[in-house]
Amino acid sequence: KGPDPDLVAIAERMATVKHKILVLSGKGGVGKSTFSAQLAFALAGMDHQVGLLDIDICGPSIPKMLGLEGQDIHQSNLGWSPVYVESNLGVMSIGFMLPNPDEAVIWRGPRKNGIIKQFLKDVHWGELDYLVVDAPPGTSDEHISIVQFLQATGIDGAIIVTTPQEVSLIDVRKEVSFCKKVGIRVLGVVENMSGLQQPLADVKFMKVSGEGEETDMTEWALKYMKENAPEMLNLITCTEVFESSKGGAAKMCREMEVPFLGKVPMDPMLGKAAEEGRSCFADQQCGASSAALRRIIDTL
Ligand code: ADP
Repeated sequence: KGPDPDLVAIAERMATVKHKILVLSGKGGVGKSTFSAQLAFALAGMDHQVGLLDIDICGPSIPKMLGLEGQDIHQSNLGWSPVYVESNLGVMSIGFMLPNPDEAVIWRGPRKNGIIKQFLKDVHWGELDYLVVDAPPGTSDEHISIVQFLQATGIDGAIIVTTPQEVSLIDVRKEVSFCKKVGIRVLGVVENMSGLQQPLADVKFMKVSGEGEETDMTEWALKYMKENAPEMLNLITCTEVFESSKGGAAKMCREMEVPFLGKVPMDPMLGKAAEEGRSCFADQQCGASSAALRRIIDTL
């Protein structure tokens, strides 16, 4: 029996891709897609040729995070064309194929396996410096498929995104052990939503009575500061939201002997940039989060 023709076709496609990076998380909602999207923006901003492949079949959020909602995939004689944000940043997602973004994708393993295979076989990326793969949370059929299909062509490694809480870290341990089992290098762990950082000028000030009645005091508070200590308005408030597990991700990394890449604060402006499908790097408002992301990306 000769070699599997699908794997041969995938190897041919991937021959023009220099680096492949998987982005994983133990749980959903920890900022994995946000990280994947901003990583792709950052690499493209450094003039690399970048592809972003979203294999989160059941919850594809990459089209929205790249500002490409409602776009369609086109076919040519070279294969499926990615949807381009810029000429050096192409995106492929099941989200482009759904007639209605609210529609649930309820597929069993073999069908998910089939579409991932097709993404790898049929998308014409052309020459790429980086292919960033945004995987679904956990370790499910999609992960086994992508590893099985890509391993022969070489995967540089995986970045695991987590939040600081122990409940999220427990699942990261599973993710790390998955990577070890299938022989994928863990490039490192990113602790996202690590403390809340917000310009004081954007904070909402509330007075809450014993009965729970809320009064918005923002206008009063801002006026008071402006008149008495205007320099306060340039300060950034920092809140350890998950105080109990401070430093948990770094500690877990030491225990599991994988690199800790750094912390990204919870930053409402980063959330907004993601919602609006923008890069956070040119955005003055995403100061702390974009600087943290930049430091992490520079270490890769
Ligand atoms: P996942 O891919 O892990 O399910 P998402 O990337 O979709 O998570 O992020 C979940 C939500 O949290 C999104 O609305 C996103 O904009 C927001 N978010 C992610 N990281 C941050 C952050 N550091 N600061 C503020 N909001 C964030």
